[in-house]
Amino acid sequence: MRCLEYERLEAEVDKSLKKLGELTTLQLEIFRSRNSDSFMRMDKDLELAVGEKERTIGCALRQHAKEHKCKPTMDPKFVDAK
Ligand SMILES: [Zn+2]
Repeated sequence: MRCLEYERLEAEVDKSLKKLGELTTLQLEIFRSRNSDSFMRMDKDLELAVGEKERTIGCALRQHAKEHKCKPTMDPKFVDAK
């Protein structure tokens, strides 16, 4: 059964992870360019993005799954990935 709220939360997590990925890539480029001022600024942004991701997954997604007893439909390509 599909749960719209869960799907909305999934989209949020998707967005947060994507943002983290972009920031990480950007920070790596800055790190390699040895621009330490920009690097420290990026570090702060990255920290905030990590916090945002943690909140989305930790509070929203997990909380909802617990309260609502709904589970995501697992993507078959991750089932045997362990
Ligand atoms: Zn639900």
